[in-house]
Amino acid sequence: MPERRHYPPMMTFHAPDCPGLAPMRDGFISLPLNEARIKYPNHHLDVCAAIDITPYVVVEKSMGDHGYSPSGTRPEDAIRSLCRKCFGTHGEDEDREVITVKTQPKPRLTLPPGAERP
Ligand SMILES: [Zn+2]
Ligand SMILES: [Zn+2]
Repeated sequence: MPERRHYPPMMTFHAPDCPGLAPMRDGFISLPLNEARIKYPNHHLDVCAAIDITPYVVVEKSMGDHGYSPSGTRPEDAIRSLCRKCFGTHGEDEDREVITVKTQPKPRLTLPPGAERP
């Protein structure tokens, strides 16, 4: 069984020179495209990035603040179902609600017959 993880919310990838971002570009992070794709599996490309394949993209949250709204769709490795608004699981950011996963208690260590506890 794959390890379950949180899904980050959907992000919009922009080209670094996107005219729409110009006034507020400093507030966003830019990442190499490959890294950004791995980090944010849920993403879509802004028109600016779709036309030009750029080595770096500027990452912007696609959705504003909202509450978790479970969609009932859960990928195999996701910790719970994806939010129907942002396709994330609402868990990675500190300011979002945190989910604790119950772990199984460790089995007691059994000593071989004859052995004594130190
Ligand atoms: Zn853009
Ligand atoms: Zn959401």
